Amino acid sequence: MSQPTDAALVFLDPNYPAGRIADPTQPQILVTDEGLTRGDGVFETMLAVDGKVRKLGLHLNRLASSANICTLPIPPEQAWEAAIQTAVETLRKQRPEFTEMTVKLTATRGVSGMGSTCWVLATGVPESTIRQRENGVDVILLDKGHDAAANHRAPWLLMGAKTLSCAVNMSALRYAKAQGKDDVIFHTSEGRVLEGPTSTVLMVKIDQQTGVPTLITPRLETGVLPGTTQGAIFAGAEDSGWDLGYGPVTTEELLQMDAVWLVSSVRLITPVLSLDNQPMGQHPEITAKLTEFLLAGAH
Ligand code: PLP
Repeated sequence: MSQPTDAALVFLDPNYPAGRIADPTQPQILVTDEGLTRGDGVFETMLAVDGKVRKLGLHLNRLASSANICTLPIPPEQAWEAAIQTAVETLRKQRPEFTEMTVKLTATRGVSGMGSTCWVLATGVPESTIRQRENGVDVILLDKGHDAAANHRAPWLLMGAKTLSCAVNMSALRYAKAQGKDDVIFHTSEGRVLEGPTSTVLMVKIDQQTGVPTLITPRLETGVLPGTTQGAIFAGAEDSGWDLGYGPVTTEELLQMDAVWLVSSVRLITPVLSLDNQPMGQHPEITAKLTEFLLAGAH
């Protein structure tokens, strides 16, 4: 048995109903796996708190939807659920101090002719993510290089699927970091707001007369990923009678919003401090309210 590590790795394997535990410090994937050679596969990143994965059903649904968009056969939900439970329990035994964990599900096209390769990896939550949740992020706007109709015109671009081909998104983040910024909001070539490289954009516009806030996010038709965090927050906000709005939002309108956040499963609800160097309004009381909505909707 190896030393306890900061990660637990479990492969989905028909011979192991609870998943096959493997050593995350050792090589495990064949170099001919098309997940590696072509970035051909799908994934999910989830948050577990005190051993319980948040929004598990929403994540498993999106994994199935991403796999479907990519025509990638993957094991049934029960196999994922069993492997997730094994991974979380294994890491909890190794690292009981990890109250929060990142749980990543990956399914690759595999080695040609051998079917998909699927695994669950549980790790701690990076310190940098926790700091950003608390402190907020400085963001730049970047052109994604396609128009708002590309999603319909070119379904082979797999917009709306959470694929392993993230090199472009990682490149955009490096571009932001080189300019001393933390993150990115993409827009279409005609200036419609899309999403962050690993997050959904939420905005609030407060009515000057009534003081009533409207919670806004870009419409999915432009090819943004359907965010489970945004979905849970909107469900909670709707139950509480909030006004909800959907894009298209232009970059000019974005800069006029009263507050903007980047949201995702592990980062949660991170306030945007500035956009292209323009300071953005800070509303900690609304952030707290959105967090309440998320917790209410995060089953
Ligand atoms: N959009 C993109 C491109 C993402 O990669 C992610 C998450 O990683 C999200 C949105 C947010 O999704 P979720 O809230 O389900 O974590």
